[in-house]
Formats: sequence, structure tokens, C-alpha cells
Amino acid sequence: MERTPAVVIRLVPWSETSYVVTLFTRRWGKVEAVAKGARRHKNPYDTAMELLACCEVVLIRKPSEALDVLTEAKLSFRFRPPGRHLENLYAAYYLAEMLQVLTQPDDPHQKLFDLAQQVLQLWRCEPINPWMVFRWETAALKLLGHCPSLGRCVECGRSLVPRGTGTFAPVHGGVLCVRCRRGRRPLVALSAPSWKAWLVMAQEPLEAVLRTEPLSFGRPGEIRAVMNLYLSHLRGSPWRMHRFLPPAVPLSSRKPGRQTAS
Ligand SMILES: [Zn+2]
Repeated sequence: MERTPAVVIRLVPWSETSYVVTLFTRRWGKVEAVAKGARRHKNPYDTAMELLACCEVVLIRKPSEALDVLTEAKLSFRFRPPGRHLENLYAAYYLAEMLQVLTQPDDPHQKLFDLAQQVLQLWRCEPINPWMVFRWETAALKLLGHCPSLGRCVECGRSLVPRGTGTFAPVHGGVLCVRCRRGRRPLVALSAPSWKAWLVMAQEPLEAVLRTEPLSFGRPGEIRAVMNLYLSHLRGSPWRMHRFLPPAVPLSSRKPGRQTAS
């Protein structure tokens, strides 16, 4: 039996009384485990079996294909958006989706775990803005080795300065110089201010993920669109939570399929 801090990133009913829970743990990275009896009113998991709960868990680790068994969970904190800020909840669901999609089982990323936990702490207190989500995404991509190339041509490595309109190639994972962009598709135009804003965020230390103030340049809508394209290419399919992230479309058209907020 082994103990580790963890965050609940997915819960799937497994039987009438149990869940299969996906945990992003500090010690082993992503782990799937059976939480027996977790769907009962009285259960051994200290109300920690809910999406985005941060907890300390005890697992019986199983070899290879078999699911681990969760024997204990002690809640550190659960995620509740501040006031009526549903955007915070959607962004936190997205954080869970990123950890689920972009990490591999049993591949620990302690720094990423610590950052995710700090970000959840922040997002349950501060009303969210687009820049807070960009900073989290950029930091997570950096730690996972997927940060797009923004200061150099992704193809030839030539140093590029955000001036005029940049050319971003989602498939190649970065900006292209004039020479390298010839004949390449698909390409997306990136205005100099937005390009510069993203580059600045990529160059910030990881701790900047806890900053809440917007940058004074760059268009959030444009950065959101290019980020969505890039991440969807990286994943090979669209992201469930992208359309719920700020900057927002009108409230009437936004409601995720599964909503567990109270
Ligand atoms: Zn080039």
C-alpha cells in the first residue's frame, strides 16, 4: 500500500456502488483505480470522490493491466468556483481534461502536479480571465515538452521577433519564417501583439501561472483560437471544454454536456 497526494480528474461509474477513478498523482502521474463502495452514501473516501477534489490517497498498486485499488482517500480541498463564476468551473474541468489527455499512465510529473494543485487553489478564489487560462496552458505545455516554438522558426530555427503578422503552423507546432512558410498548410495568421503576448507567457517562469493580471497587449480571442487549433492538432481531435473557455461567447450557447456543479 502506498500513499500520495492526488487530484481526481475523471470518475466513471463501474458498478452500482463503485467508481473507476482516474487520479493525477504526485508520485506516479496518472493512475486508474477502483474505488469500491464510493457511490454509497457512507463510504471510506471522506467525500473525496468528486471531480477536481485534491486529496491524499492510499493505493494498492497492481501489476501491468490490472486496475489499482483505492483503499483510502483524505480530502485536502474540493473545487468550488467563487460566487457564481461558472467560468472558473469550466476552466477547472479543462485543467482536468488536459491532465487526462496529455499525460501517460505511470509517468510522474511532480512539478506539473504541484502547479495544477496551486492553480486549482487560485481558481477557486479568483474570478478567472483568459490570461489565467493561457498561463496555465503554456506552463503545462512547457512541462510536458509541447510548448510551441514562438521565438524561433519551428522549421529552420531562425530567431524571429514578433513584428508584423506572424505565421503559425499548428501541425508543425510553432511560427514559421517567410522562407519556410512557402507551400505549407494549414497556416494561421497571428497578429504581432498576440504573438508577442504568447511569447512573453512562454518565457515567464512557471510560477507566473499564479499571476492574475492580464497582459496589456495581445487579443485574447485570437490567442484562444490559435491555442485551440494547436492543441486540437496535438490531441488529434477537438477538446470538450475549449468552447467554454474565456473569452466567452454569450451565456445562452454555453452549457457543457455534463455539469456537476451545485
Ligand atoms: Zn524557417
